[in-house]
Amino acid sequence: SPAVAAGEVTKVYGSGDAAVHALRGVSVGFAHGAFTAIMGPSGSGKSTLMHCLAGLDTVDGGSVSLGQVELTRLNDRQLTQLRRDRFGFIFQSFNLLPTLTAEQNIRLPLDLAGRRRDQLWMDKVVGALGLRDRLSHRPSELSGGQQQRVACARALIHQPEVIFADEPTGNLDSRSGGEVLGFLRSSVREMGQTIVMVTHDPVAASYADRVVFLRDGRITGEMYRPTPDSVL
Ligand code: ADP
Ligand code: ADP
Repeated sequence: SPAVAAGEVTKVYGSGDAAVHALRGVSVGFAHGAFTAIMGPSGSGKSTLMHCLAGLDTVDGGSVSLGQVELTRLNDRQLTQLRRDRFGFIFQSFNLLPTLTAEQNIRLPLDLAGRRRDQLWMDKVVGALGLRDRLSHRPSELSGGQQQRVACARALIHQPEVIFADEPTGNLDSRSGGEVLGFLRSSVREMGQTIVMVTHDPVAASYADRVVFLRDGRITGEMYRPTPDSVL
């Protein structure tokens, strides 16, 4: 069974004449250990789908499950805890705290959850993302690509099962974007996380194992082993 799955998910913003049907019955599964990109034009529902899968937004119909757990049956407190324990998030804007060093930013999810750090895992994540000699730097002293790799390490530090990445290369030039995704892909290959990434960049999508295409709130197709040309 998939790591994360959506079954006939619908999502409507607003009501009456102003209603926007952001998701119109989306069913999709994300296999354990797979790196999947969700692509589609602006407004097609990519972010909404990711937010519903990640329990950041509620669905209006259908179901979202993480393994055997049905997210729509959880209350807010349970959802917050599940997100904190089992999901990692990477954003377009990095979302690092400027006054903290790279190492402190990476440790933040552990500190917030009151969990002790596993030094071996910390070393593994930091090494895999090429950050060993950047740990004492603050975000302003790092390039965009390095900042996003710190954000990737932060997303992995509590050993989540699923990483959700929303346009992770949107603020990076193509070279550093490629570097970030290359590091992330090889890290999770080794460590086994499932990645769900929203992007409109064909080059970014080509790092995934599979691309799911959305249009007007519906899945219109999918492709395995994408290349930049094939997903254009
Ligand atoms: P994408 O990520 O593919 O650009 P979104 O999921 O952001 O698409 O948006 C899908 C549709 O839902 C769009 O028409 C958008 O305007 C609408 N939408 C998204 N978020 C909201 C919101 N909070 N309130 C009202 N409409 C929204
Ligand atoms: P982007 O820079 O990719 O547009 P944002 O920073 O705007 O992403 O965040 C996208 C969504 O995720 C927002 O709805 C926001 O509330 C939520 N979000 C942002 N940071 C976090 C976080 N650290 N943990 C959980 N949800 C977050």
